[in-house]
Amino acid sequence: MPKKQFKSESKRLLDLMINSIYTHREIFLRELISNASDAIDKLCYIALTDEGVGLSRDDFCIEISADKEKRTLTLRDNGIGMTAQEMENNLGVIAKSGSLKFKQEHTDAPDDIDIIGQFGVGFYSAFMVSSRVTVTSRAYGEPRANVWVSEGSDGYTITECGAERAGTEIILELKPDTDDDNFSEYLEEYTLHSLVKKYSDYIRWPIVMDVTRSRKIEGAPDESGKPAISWEDYTERETINSRVPLWQRPKSELTEERMNEFFKTEFGEDDDPAAAIRVDAEGAASYRALLFIPSKAPYDYYSREYEPGLKLYASGVMIMEKCAALLPDYFRFVRGVVDSQDLSLNISRETLQQDRALRVIAANLEKKTKAELLRLQEAEPEKYAAFYRAFALQLKHGMLGGYGENRDKLRDLLMFYSAGEEKLITLEEYAKKMPQGQPYIYYACGESAAALAKLPQCAAVTARGYDVLYLTDDVDEFVANLIGKQGEIELRSVRAEDLGLTTAEEKKAIEQSEEVYREVLDFVKESLDGKIAAARFSRNALSAPAALTAQGAVTLEMEKYFAAMGGDAAPRVKAERVLELSEAHPAFTALRAAHAQDRDKAARYAKILYNLALLGAGLSPDDPAALTELVAGLMS
Ligand code: ADP
Repeated sequence: MPKKQFKSESKRLLDLMINSIYTHREIFLRELISNASDAIDKLCYIALTDEGVGLSRDDFCIEISADKEKRTLTLRDNGIGMTAQEMENNLGVIAKSGSLKFKQEHTDAPDDIDIIGQFGVGFYSAFMVSSRVTVTSRAYGEPRANVWVSEGSDGYTITECGAERAGTEIILELKPDTDDDNFSEYLEEYTLHSLVKKYSDYIRWPIVMDVTRSRKIEGAPDESGKPAISWEDYTERETINSRVPLWQRPKSELTEERMNEFFKTEFGEDDDPAAAIRVDAEGAASYRALLFIPSKAPYDYYSREYEPGLKLYASGVMIMEKCAALLPDYFRFVRGVVDSQDLSLNISRETLQQDRALRVIAANLEKKTKAELLRLQEAEPEKYAAFYRAFALQLKHGMLGGYGENRDKLRDLLMFYSAGEEKLITLEEYAKKMPQGQPYIYYACGESAAALAKLPQCAAVTARGYDVLYLTDDVDEFVANLIGKQGEIELRSVRAEDLGLTTAEEKKAIEQSEEVYREVLDFVKESLDGKIAAARFSRNALSAPAALTAQGAVTLEMEKYFAAMGGDAAPRVKAERVLELSEAHPAFTALRAAHAQDRDKAARYAKILYNLALLGAGLSPDDPAALTELVAGLMS
């Protein structure tokens, strides 16, 4: 039968991995055991309602055996098994997350890169220690089994075969030892025993192995009349792991290291979580939970592919791999496990949603998650920053969803980049350090902090010694609008007409000037041919000659946002642009003079000022060629 090739990206990763000098290659055992345990979880769940499985909870186990002569290590489970197609899909492509990220980030990765550590490639780790891997598997409900054989990156074959029962057997033919590498150690009882203890102790299913023991044998009496003593080796099947899941262990045993290890193995993550939460609840619902707040978003997090949810156990039996009903949508990044005695084992997935105990648990977990996030923000700002970098968008979208009903739940979790502090701060922090007399919390929305720093309005605000928050996510303006106020202090965009930087008298004077120069201002509007709704003097003591702002409900940032989204509504969502001129600036003096003497020239000045305002607002000139001509025309 012809060999099938691994998908190309898998092949490259596999090659790298097999040849990598990986210091923790021993984790292959943990990866395979964890897969076996998942497979048993799945069949055990089916067995709850399907008598055809013919196994009770006590019958499930994972067997490990080593054959020193053949140099093989075998793992067997009586879990759900795989069909030929599943083998093809699951074993023929490298863990999806790993491969994609790998391709994006490491096109020239060196050969000794710590790939497993970074990508958690699961099953493939078997090739770090094996020259050939043979997987025989029969899926539950299928009459036939299949054998998958591969010697590494050159491909694999799948052929049909027989097998008595559902389950999977993986035979690893260990690589030959070299001066540097001792693969034979994985055939030693002692090594296997300690690896299981170290990495897989909490696996709930028994991990059994035949262990060798010695016993005393009393033979026939010798001359002195005493029985002759000799020792004999015998083998005995032993369950190696203690089988107490991590979440059922006393808090004192849950070291950070153990929790991190669990997070990575259980959820195929590469990095330590930002925080782990252990919940042990009694009362309206009794349950234990281990929740994790990741420090990085999975590669598919912001796509449709990402499936949120917590792993749900009812009295130790896994009933759902991803129970989304346990998490509010805005906390869908939380990973974890929940185990409750208050859920019935044969609850259907459809009715789960309405289950009272489940709803109580979900409400509690939400509270715990929020409390932990706030604690992190306060006590471990760096970890919070990592979390926030990954999930700020989620929190913001969560806040905007549901007609803003989640606003007050999430507002304290949001942070914004402070121009003054050059780091993320909360609105509360901003408000606390406001100098006396500062009327508003200022924010500026735009593409980047660097671009916003150049905004004329930002310069006007910071010149007063006031801080500005730079909001650079495309939804930020909506978020700022929704938040509205921090305590009694209003949030105000620096693009607003009035930033409160001038006194009432000054404003009055500006209004009077506008009347004096009404004709010039109207002329500017007309020269711009419908591009702006009005021209006026800035109330904000700008040092730049001109700035762009908008009147009405639609701001420039919103216009940009809808334009980027495309769709039918986009062309209708237009900001009513207002050109703000600075009366004191020499540019206005020049404009005024031109208006009096040479209307053509004045019209050109108006256009240039408009274009400068566009640039200042981080927008492109409508017609760069025309702008070039205008400016060049001034010089000739
Ligand atoms: P992951 O476990 O992170 O999904 P793996 O590469 O370890 O990635 O495994 C890929 C898939 O192969 C698993 O998700 C599972 O569907 C299947 N699989 C692996 N080992 C077994 C097994 N012993 N029994 C049944 N299915 C398995």
